[in-house]
Amino acid sequence: MTDSTAGGDVRLTGISKTYGSFTAVHPLELTVPQGSFFALLGASGCGKTTTLRMIAGLEEPTTGTVFLGDKDVTDLPPYKRPVNTVFQSYALFPHLNVTENIAFGLRRRGIKSVKKQVDDMLELVQLGDFAHRKPHQLSGGQQQRVAVARALINHPQVLLLDEPLGALDLKLRRQMQLELKRIQTEVGITFVHVTHDQEEAMTMADTVAVMNGGRVEQLGAPADLYENPKTTFVANFLGTSNLIEAEVAEKNGDDLVVTAGGAKLRLPGGRCSAPASSGGKLLVGVRPEKISLAHRDDEGAIAEGRNRVSGRIVDSSFIGVSTQYLVDSPAGKGLSVYEQNVDRRAGLLPGAEVVLHWNPAHTFGLDAAQAID
Ligand code: ATP
Repeated sequence: MTDSTAGGDVRLTGISKTYGSFTAVHPLELTVPQGSFFALLGASGCGKTTTLRMIAGLEEPTTGTVFLGDKDVTDLPPYKRPVNTVFQSYALFPHLNVTENIAFGLRRRGIKSVKKQVDDMLELVQLGDFAHRKPHQLSGGQQQRVAVARALINHPQVLLLDEPLGALDLKLRRQMQLELKRIQTEVGITFVHVTHDQEEAMTMADTVAVMNGGRVEQLGAPADLYENPKTTFVANFLGTSNLIEAEVAEKNGDDLVVTAGGAKLRLPGGRCSAPASSGGKLLVGVRPEKISLAHRDDEGAIAEGRNRVSGRIVDSSFIGVSTQYLVDSPAGKGLSVYEQNVDRRAGLLPGAEVVLHWNPAHTFGLDAAQAID
């Protein structure tokens, strides 16, 4: 690796990858801002690892250019790029202890006095007490931290992480997510992290690119993607979306009123990515934790101006932090509602006639035609 390249964004312009007649990554325009924690998120086979490997130089793009800062690195071999990769398998040297594993990259470059840098890395990943252990004497999370330290010691401009937490159990995974986020904030290096786990991407990344079928469907800050999905794939991949079929009834400037199963719902301007002509079909959604439940008898107490849909509870389950309800309504079956104030809602049992209500600002509108394709 060389550190001769000036810092800067990672930019992919027109990058694609085909294998024979199969296109794994369609021509892609993507900018990863310098110093950000960026996640490529998507289901198995969507092309996220191939994209990462093209940044690393481990895969040759079929078309397009990879820039690091102003420098075109498309034709540089991996070891000449100021980039390092952490793999799910850790790939630690089993016969070397933690210190020797971390020092490996410096020693290979002929650097003799490595102690200070290795000590800094041991402190960064909080493994000072484990410096003399061999990999088999470490937990999975500790091994992963050695792999991160080893990859960071050469001060790469970009660290690529390919499902680095995939082999860990859930609890350790959650701890390591926070740990990696802390390390990234401390070193300030650009991290590009590949994962199929939406919660992981949302927890760690400043920006998430949601990939589907070799394309980036949507890119944005985690909260923005969750609150304001632009496609049904993104809406459904990032949690429960309660999509119901609706029709445009009125337009007031950018604001819409839509009808769904007899209910009239307000859809504020800017929250609809479907073409909104009068009478046009679309899908509207709202996240389960944004919805409140009221008994039909208590409907009068619901504030004016909220969106509301009537229905019947078909199932409820207490999961500690909230109670999850499934509600069938004329607008749609199996709508999910997460209610936190369960103690005040004891009468909300399966069979109860209820009204679901929420702030219209949390409603989003999506293209129904696109969903069928
Ligand atoms: P996963 O999470 O399972 O690793 P991914 O989103 O990272 O999935 P990629 O590994 O990028 O997906 O693969 C994208 C597509 O390209 C897949 O359909 C895969 O089968 C195909 N693919 C990857 N490498 C090759 C190859 N060398 N030859 C042919 N097809 C390939």
